[in-house]
Amino acid sequence: MIIWDLVVVGGGPAGLSAAHAAARAGVRTLVVERATHPRYKTCGGGLIGTSLAEATDRIDVPVHDRVDHVMFTRDGRRGFTRRHTGPLVAMVRREEFDDRLRAAAVAAGAEVREGVAVRAVEQDPDEVRLRLADGDTVRARAVIGADGSSGVTARHVGVAHRQVDLGLELELPVPPAEQERWRGRLLLDWGPVPGSYAWVFPKGDRLTVGVISARGDGERTRAYLRDFVARLGLSGVTPEHDSGHLTRCRTEDSPLRRGRVLVAGDAAGLLEPWSREGISYALRSGRLAGQAVAGGDLATYEQEIHRHLMPEMRAGHRLLEVFARWPDVFHALLATPPGWRMFARFCEGRASFDRTLSRRPVRAGLALLDGLSARRAKAAEARS
Ligand SMILES: Cc1cc2nc3c(=O)[nH]c(=O)nc-3n(C[C@H](O)[C@H](O)[C@H](O)COP(=O)(O)OP(=O)(O)OC[C@H]3O[C@@H](n4cnc5c(N)ncnc54)[C@H](O)[C@@H]3O)c2cc1C
Repeated sequence: MIIWDLVVVGGGPAGLSAAHAAARAGVRTLVVERATHPRYKTCGGGLIGTSLAEATDRIDVPVHDRVDHVMFTRDGRRGFTRRHTGPLVAMVRREEFDDRLRAAAVAAGAEVREGVAVRAVEQDPDEVRLRLADGDTVRARAVIGADGSSGVTARHVGVAHRQVDLGLELELPVPPAEQERWRGRLLLDWGPVPGSYAWVFPKGDRLTVGVISARGDGERTRAYLRDFVARLGLSGVTPEHDSGHLTRCRTEDSPLRRGRVLVAGDAAGLLEPWSREGISYALRSGRLAGQAVAGGDLATYEQEIHRHLMPEMRAGHRLLEVFARWPDVFHALLATPPGWRMFARFCEGRASFDRTLSRRPVRAGLALLDGLSARRAKAAEARS
């Protein structure tokens, strides 16, 4: 039986980036994917500049729209629109985007086995064995787990999470007049549930409409989506897809590796905590994992993630904390030139949140809000 140098579990952006990086460096690589590409994935498909920079090296990105107008509302009210001089977010359909990443990994030399799930992971000091749903066993010197936020590899490695959110999404086919109305513009609405927001992402003949909120209040999250769609005047449209998915952000000290098994992307809980943007994290962590296997030193992966991605996640948690407590202030700040600049630079991939939040005026503003939060908590305690 073959012993692969590397088996990647899951053929999403993280797994296919890992496979591409490893295979192009000469590593004998197999990807095992439960579905068959092109496959639907619950996702807004919004690519920020960081994602585009990673993907354009490898593929011709199948973009359906490039957004330069952003409309902001606060629970349906106090709307305003800002326009940028160039594109801010590129809109893709995940089935097309992921299928191109698959083709690029294959062109780099990886083999992709589709339509079969990995059921269990076992390892000893010499190799890893993956038990497949069809009864087969695959052997590998190293494994990269990229099977998403609730997969078998995260459980094997023992990934721990500090934030779990529920995302609900509809793919709505819309007539030409509606397509024209949304072309080049997206809508973000800061929601009634703390830390929640909703979006409309234009994709030509369809709109991706969704909401995300902390897990645990499914009924309010569903009601928020219903109300949001009604406000848009789209309640009568039958969705092509109507689905939900959990996103999970890792704890700071959660493992990224157990022995010969690394985890990347959603499987590692790598996700921007405020926006829940995860494609750039998947593309980058997958590439870093593939490069670590190719370099023969798995420990470098953990170092690289801690150096490059964890500071961004830390800043994202801080931002979410402030946003959840002060959504009206957050909304008002986005209407100011510095607030809009910060948002635009994040979308373009020109400034990460850790760099932005470390700037002196931003730090001072956050400290002020912390003080106000503490006073508000004290006053509430005194009242009860
Ligand atoms: C509602 C919603 C909207 C989002 N919108 C955006 C957005 O607009 N922009 C953005 O950047 N991010 C967004 N995200 C986050 C983004 O979708 C994820 O972070 C990203 O898909 C992670 O990529 P991945 O490769 O790690 O995992 P996935 O894309 O989940 O890929 C995992 C793959 O593993 C396969 N798999 C699972 N189990 C097994 C198994 N046992 N054996 C073999 N294969 C398996 C799956 O079929 C899948 O193909 C959104 C998330 C949600 C929930």
